[in-house]
Amino acid sequence: MRDNHMEFTRPRGTRDFLPEEVRKRRKVEGIIRDTFEKFGFEEVVTPTFESLELITAKSGDEIREGLYHFKDKSDRDLALRPELTAPVMRLYVNEMQKRPKPVKVYYFANCFRYERSQAGRYREFYQAGVESIGSANPEADAEVIALAVEALKNLGLENFKIHIGHIGILRGILEEESVSEAEQNALMGIIDKGEKSQIENALLKFSSDTRDYLKKIIELQGKPGDVLKEASGIVKNSDEKITELEETLELLESFGVKDYEINLGIARGLDYYTGIVFEIYAEGLGAQNQVCGGGNYALTETFGGQKTATSGFAFGFDRIMLALEAQDALQEGDGDVEYLVVSTSNALLKKAIEISAKIRENHACEVDLMRRKLGKALAYADTSGIPFVVIVGEEELKKDKVLIRDMKSGEQKEVSIKDLK
Ligand code: AMP
Repeated sequence: MRDNHMEFTRPRGTRDFLPEEVRKRRKVEGIIRDTFEKFGFEEVVTPTFESLELITAKSGDEIREGLYHFKDKSDRDLALRPELTAPVMRLYVNEMQKRPKPVKVYYFANCFRYERSQAGRYREFYQAGVESIGSANPEADAEVIALAVEALKNLGLENFKIHIGHIGILRGILEEESVSEAEQNALMGIIDKGEKSQIENALLKFSSDTRDYLKKIIELQGKPGDVLKEASGIVKNSDEKITELEETLELLESFGVKDYEINLGIARGLDYYTGIVFEIYAEGLGAQNQVCGGGNYALTETFGGQKTATSGFAFGFDRIMLALEAQDALQEGDGDVEYLVVSTSNALLKKAIEISAKIRENHACEVDLMRRKLGKALAYADTSGIPFVVIVGEEELKKDKVLIRDMKSGEQKEVSIKDLK
């Protein structure tokens, strides 16, 4: 006979998550959602794929190169979402423009990018993010940054760095140099990647004065007081942007965020960013240490809506998990099952199932499906971390009772079936 069994492996860059891992991920996810909701953000859900045009509208070369793009059977060009800001802004423009402002929404979803897979960089990964829509005031930007920091603190993440900049400053200089938007975007992509030699190369086309000027801005980084003073000295015709940055930072302090650096070299890899931008890096992750990126952007008009102030961020959820793990902040934890119901003979199986149904009204409860002998069932409860075993035996049933064994202490007591709750 021909052996036609095949072994399948996961596609490169994807992962399976076993129950223990999912348990941890859900816990972290819950804390993030909770924090978002405490700030008044509400969840939205958008499709896994969108029209290719929407995704490529203002996304940046890196994203475009990594798209999972396909045609459906009606020859439509579609793409798996590489991020959620564009889809969420499409949703906002289509359905939510008339709502009172601000409109504050969040998402938690998987994204797809065909990238060179490595630790912390996957082809399917998860983002948790927010979009704050409708307020052009600095407090809206400050709130978004404060929310990102608050969520990481609530997770118990300790060693992370916050960098804040203003992409309008670099773009403003390029505009004055009459650099086209497409070229600006390409340059921002290169600056975002952060490879020094590539940046040097890209800047060669400018006069040496402009080159020095741009380099100074890109490298301007440090504690707010010093850097802002220095920036005011260097940056020409950008007073307004420096003031915007200062105002946002002052308000950020009122939100309780005081420990951050200014980094005017933050360029972000996506074309839609316009104003204040920020990134958060976590320790212990090697090269892929950016766990959060966000800022001010403009997409509503691109999608046919009214001009609206928007800012937001995306957490790289997988990297947050890695950072928490590196910091040993994730406890293994047991599953949710509290009771295992086991009968001492197969004749009592039906009774055991009935009892498990009653317990399940209030507790997570398993009934033994393996027809194990009592000793084996207790061993199973032990290794599975189930704290109580309900033993359904002949003698006790005669009195309408069962035995409940506390796995930790080993104590057993008789309980009336009617008292089980
Ligand atoms: P971006 O949408 O590129 O601004 O990315 C936002 C965040 O998503 C980044 O800060 C990363 O933490 C995370 N991220 C981006 N690409 C990947 C990837 N391929 N694998 C895992 N996380 C990613």
